[in-house]
Order: sequence, then C-alpha cells, then structure tokens
Amino acid sequence: MTDATTTNTMEREFLYGAHNYAPLPVVLVRGKGVYVWDEAGNRYLDMMSAYSAVSHGHCHPKLVQVLQKQAQQLNIVSRAFYTDKLGPFLERVCQLTHFDKALPMNSGAEAVETAIKAARKWAYTVKKVAKDQAHIIACQGNFHGRTTTIISMSTEPNYREGFGPFTPGFTLIPYGDPIALEQAITPNTAAFLVEPIQGEGGINVPPAGYLKACETLCKRNNVLMICDEIQTGLGRTGKLFGYQHDDVTPDGIILGKALGGGILPVSLFLSRKEVMDVFTPGDHGSTFGGNPLAATVGLAAIEVLLEENLIERAAKLGGYFQNKLKTIHSPLIKDIRGKGLLIGVEIDKSYPAREICLKLLHHGILTKETHGTVIRFAPPLIITEEQIDAAVEALKHVIAEK
Ligand SMILES: *Cc1c(COP(=O)(O)O)cnc(C)c1O
Repeated sequence: MTDATTTNTMEREFLYGAHNYAPLPVVLVRGKGVYVWDEAGNRYLDMMSAYSAVSHGHCHPKLVQVLQKQAQQLNIVSRAFYTDKLGPFLERVCQLTHFDKALPMNSGAEAVETAIKAARKWAYTVKKVAKDQAHIIACQGNFHGRTTTIISMSTEPNYREGFGPFTPGFTLIPYGDPIALEQAITPNTAAFLVEPIQGEGGINVPPAGYLKACETLCKRNNVLMICDEIQTGLGRTGKLFGYQHDDVTPDGIILGKALGGGILPVSLFLSRKEVMDVFTPGDHGSTFGGNPLAATVGLAAIEVLLEENLIERAAKLGGYFQNKLKTIHSPLIKDIRGKGLLIGVEIDKSYPAREICLKLLHHGILTKETHGTVIRFAPPLIITEEQIDAAVEALKHVIAEK
C-alpha cells in the first residue's frame, strides 16, 4: 500500500500543501460507484463519500455523460447574462422542495453565508429590526463551514483558535433543547439556523419533535427557521430532507454536497419569496455560482436521485446497516446512531477512532473519524446489502483486534 510511488505522492502533497488536513495514507486515483482505487490497484469501499457529496456514487455514468455534453457546449459566463440552463435547474429544485426561490452558489459555506445575509437583510427590511442589531441563533456543536463569519458561531476551539476577531451577531444555545431556543429569542432575532442532524458534530440526532417545537417558537416570534441540509439533505437520512422526519416547514434551507452529484461544487439557498426578495441587483453574488455546467449537473443529480429511488434506498439500507452494526457485541462500542445512511459509531476513548480508521483502511474500507471518538459510516446511497455486510465484517475484525 505504501510503496515508493505512493510515498513520493504523499510527500509532495505534504511538502507543497498547507497542512490543514491530516489525510489517511492512501493515494486514490480512480472511483466507480461505491468503490475507489489507489495507485497500486487496491480497491476500497468508500464509507465517507466525501462527507455525503458522493451520494450518487463515484463517476455516475449519467452524470458524467451530461457533464461531458455540457462541457463541450458552454461552461462559465457569470451571472451578467442569462443562460439556458440556470432557469430550468432552479425551477426543478423549487418544484421539488416547495420553496419559491433559490440562490445558487458553489460551496456549502457560500450558501450558508447567503442564508445569513438573507436573514439579516430580511430582519432589517421586513421585521424592522434596528440597524446592525439583528442576531442569529445557532447551536453548540454545529458545523456550517469555515469562513471567518461562519466560524464565529462555531463552538469548536480547533476551528477558531488563531482566527479572531470574530463576526458578532450570533447567539449559541444547546442542540436539541427547544426551551433554550425560547429563552434566546429576542425582538432582534432574525433567524434560527439548525442542522436536522449534526454531522461533523458527531452524527448527533436530536430528540423526536425537536424541530417541530422549534418551528412553533420561530413562527410565534417571527423568526426565520433555516435548516442547514448540506449534509442531511437529498436523501441521505432516508427522507428527501432531514427536517421531514419532524414534519416541519422551515422558512429556508441550504443545500450543497450531493447537489453536485459527486462531480462539482453546487450549492443553493432556498426560501420563500418574501425572504429572497430582499436581494437586489449588486448586493450579493458569485462569479461561478449558477454556471451552466453546475446547473446541468445539479439538475441531473436531482433526476438521478429520484429515478434510482435513492431516498428509499437510504431509508431501507440505513436500517439494515444499523441492525448489522448492532450485531457487533463489544464494550468498546458505546453507541450506534444516525438516520438512513448517515451513521455514527461511537467508540470508547481507549481505542482511538483514528487508529480504527487506519486499520479499516487495511481492510479495504475508507472512512474517517469525527470528533475523535465517532466513526462515520455514510456510503454512497447506491450501496448494496452485500457491501454493507463487508464493511460490518471489517469493523468486527478491527474491534476484536484491541
Ligand atoms: C460540509 C458542510 C458545510 C460546508 O460545506 P462546504 O462545501 O465544505 O463549504 C456546511 N454545513 C454542513 C451541515 C456541512 O456538512
């Protein structure tokens, strides 16, 4: 696995790249479906799927085909002009999500920034909050991205240390506690920003009814409820959106990751007309956001998700996966949690999760720990029962090695 070529490849990345990641020692060169291959030809089952960006599987043939066709036709023109691809893409997502309007960006963080700007401007122009007084409530343990404004609402010291001063205007409350939300709301509250399941925070599933209680509080107090569905959205949790487990209607949602079909960065902020209409020409934008190549791939990613019943698959296979994991009886396994194919296995501190991930790598399973103790199992939604069995067997071996 770590032959001379591989060592050389890794050394170059280490030498010339900033060390803001600590990758596992494997150099990937090819992907197909749920599998990826390294330089030496070893095959791995991808249990990470790029933090849910690869829900459709690697190099989905239909997505690659539309990408190639569009790449030969028109790629980037900026939003200074109309294109034939953006309107149909936005129309399709609005139909699917029942939101009125969408604003396209590229990375998830950019779409979160867009939601923050929309909520603030809505607070000033519609809710009539005094200038610069609006605040947004977010949850402890959140992950919404890496920009300086977004890390201003993070509670993870590692994401913040050395990057201040921070953007004001955020209030943090415990996740899963509607009473804390009620107490934090003031007449200046613009929005409550929440993940239906905290992904990077450790696959934290809130109590049933949590989002419903939050929705009621937001409605009563004229506060926008915005769900960050970048990781939980588009089928990952066994429903189209994570918030649907609680039967709520948020005022806005943020999509990214899987929206790009595992090929391109494509993100959106979606909301009601009243919110989105706060934007006027020139007050927000992105050179690449909504480009025809991204719009084409984004539209096809949605079609494939529906055509291949990936949402139902995530529900069914997620249940299968969790049940299989529960057959591993070991005191080292502290918890198995998640919904659909977003699953976290919490391991006792005595067995560092990174060590387990390194051992899984040697068993042909790729995954990554989150928060030191939780191992993530979030494969492409096209995974089969046999492939899940293989992953569970590997974990069983690795757990038994301690
Ligand atoms: C990954 C993620 C983001 C950030 O997306 P990027 O594309 O990395 O900027 C934001 N919110 C959630 C919930 C995420 O999982």
